[in-house]
Amino acid sequence: MTPREIAEAALSGLSAGEAVKLFDEDFMALAKAAEELTLKLWGDSVTFVNNIVINYSNVCVARCPICAFYRPPKHPEAYTRAPEDVAKAVAEASSSLGVTELHVNGGFNPELSVEYFEELFRAVKRAAPGVAIKGPTMAEVDYYSRLWRMSWREVLERFKEAGLDAISGGGAEIFAEEVRRVVSPHKLDGETWLNIAELAHKLGIPSNATMLYGHVERPEHVVDHIFKVKELQERTGGLLLFIPVKFSPYNTELGRRGLVAAPAPAVYDIKVVAIARLILLDKLKVAAYWVSTGKRLASTLLKAGANDLVGTMYNEAVLASAGMRGAASPEELAAIAREAGRRPALRDTFHRVLRWL
Ligand code: SF4
Repeated sequence: MTPREIAEAALSGLSAGEAVKLFDEDFMALAKAAEELTLKLWGDSVTFVNNIVINYSNVCVARCPICAFYRPPKHPEAYTRAPEDVAKAVAEASSSLGVTELHVNGGFNPELSVEYFEELFRAVKRAAPGVAIKGPTMAEVDYYSRLWRMSWREVLERFKEAGLDAISGGGAEIFAEEVRRVVSPHKLDGETWLNIAELAHKLGIPSNATMLYGHVERPEHVVDHIFKVKELQERTGGLLLFIPVKFSPYNTELGRRGLVAAPAPAVYDIKVVAIARLILLDKLKVAAYWVSTGKRLASTLLKAGANDLVGTMYNEAVLASAGMRGAASPEELAAIAREAGRRPALRDTFHRVLRWL
């Protein structure tokens, strides 16, 4: 198909079967069609937030085979951050780096109480009132609600009351159960992730949605995932960003078991991002998540349907432990956007433009 034919088919509404077949098309035609639609539906801006990433704890009992970050309880490298320490780091990052968002996640730590999280959010708000807190994923909300014998609603309401502004999109992986059985067998199922997201949105807590790709999934799983994200957005309007996250097999059990030998090729990254745009159209922004793909590929993804670079991600530990490196300054991200011929803008957590760069 030509880029024009692909764009026209997308605009008239793709079925899941048609979207799966797009994976057989030339990646450059897909990219061109997706870029054309992005410019038409969203304009030429590329946004990102200036944020700091802090993991409150690396202790996790979920033992996901995709994860290089977690340590079991009592492991010598296990840590849990004191709320005051996190708050101090956020305040420093706010004054020295100008960050406007804290991205705070961790594992399933059986020793943490709801009061720990409340104190964490309150301490951050006291120390850095202008910084939005984007915190625990649907997977963490599900785990802790079971640990504390509370409803999802109660956990979400207490988190919100203590200062949580938004939910990060992790833990979604790929919604299809046959894939989850391999990549995250001890974590919530896809339907539960979607139900918690829907409830959070109804309670006034917006969220991102991620999709971890490049492991054992097939095109139909990717397409099914993106359609479910689209349907959620149509129901609630509470999604802020769709973030395709490229899997890195290094230091993970999937890698050690030989199920995934190497990261997916760049052509696949481009197809995933382009097809996400062709399905989501004007419903949701699509990210070029440079932390997982590397900065060099990010501007190419911006020419394939992406229109957000997520954030500066100061102090990113989860992916660093799987062989990926650190942060990017706003100027560096702006340069990536310009390289793709786009207008960079700093945004806040809720995607309001703060400043054109
Ligand atoms: S991916 Fe998340 S839930 Fe799974 S082991 Fe790692 S920290 Fe725990």
